[in-house]
Amino acid sequence: MAAKRTLSFEFFPPKTPAGQMTLGRTVAELEQLKPDFVSITYGAGGSDRHRTGDVVNWMRKETDLEPMAHLTCMGHTRTDVAGLLVEYRRIGVENILALGGDPPIDGSIPAGDYTYASDLLADVASTRSFCVGVAAHPEVHPRSADRASDRQHLADKLSVADFAVTQFFFDVEHWVRLVNELADLGVHKPVLPGIMPIGNKRQIQRMAQMSGTALPEWLVDRLETTDDPDDVRRIGIEVASNLANDLLEAGAPGVHLYTLNRPQTAIEICVNLDLASP
Ligand code: FAD
Repeated sequence: MAAKRTLSFEFFPPKTPAGQMTLGRTVAELEQLKPDFVSITYGAGGSDRHRTGDVVNWMRKETDLEPMAHLTCMGHTRTDVAGLLVEYRRIGVENILALGGDPPIDGSIPAGDYTYASDLLADVASTRSFCVGVAAHPEVHPRSADRASDRQHLADKLSVADFAVTQFFFDVEHWVRLVNELADLGVHKPVLPGIMPIGNKRQIQRMAQMSGTALPEWLVDRLETTDDPDDVRRIGIEVASNLANDLLEAGAPGVHLYTLNRPQTAIEICVNLDLASP
């Protein structure tokens, strides 16, 4: 990041053999675009948490990709995290995204030793073994009391972390305003914009609601022009490409694409941005 603008992709760990095949194919295709790193999400809890480590381990062994493992506070003890970090170090993982995580609706995760991402971040950073990122919420996190406290908590995280990756959003102004607000608080670390290409209407409405992202009127109007899934996908690619372009022009340190484990959309966006010639 210090050297150049970065291109990165986010994947989620698959739960089924079919999902594993899909991820394998997706990674094989996107590896050709030579991303600077890729990130692997972490389950909110329960028995499938090992999947992130499994995917990261597989990537270290079988690909040339530089993985960043997501890690959340939810239900973790300090001992759990210390063990996970030792394992990540052993397999050569250098990048961790330290996150709060979301409490599951059924409350099935037991309370852990961490309350906020900043607590987890402190433990990861204290090992001095990892490059550590944190989450940023351009449109303010839904649980934040107000905008000022949201920004102050983020600034506090960034006084320790190396960089931030944002929640997805659709107007470049959200990122510009966030970066300016951080600068006013004396924080100048890289804030990498997370870009979510719209794949289908229902899914994006659900994800936007969960994350506190507004679907702007121009985008709702645009999506209302069609019910054809291919048209929706095409609009999604166009919107994501334009947003990424505007962000890079506004000085963003790179582009982080949420792939949802599908390669084609990410490839088309990279081609539009001239970041790839597959
Ligand atoms: P925090 O920084 O803990 O913030 C959560 C809330 O607490 C905010 O409102 C903040 O302002 C407030 N807060 C922070 N510190 C304090 C304090 N000291 N006192 C009072 N209030 C405070 N979730 C997953 O489960 N797995 C993933 O892999 C995952 N990947 C993500 C990747 C990205 C790029 C992003 C943006 C989000 C991701 N999430 C993931 C979702 C994330 O876990 C949720 O958005 C979560 O609700 C907040 O995470 P955070 O790290 O911002 O938490």
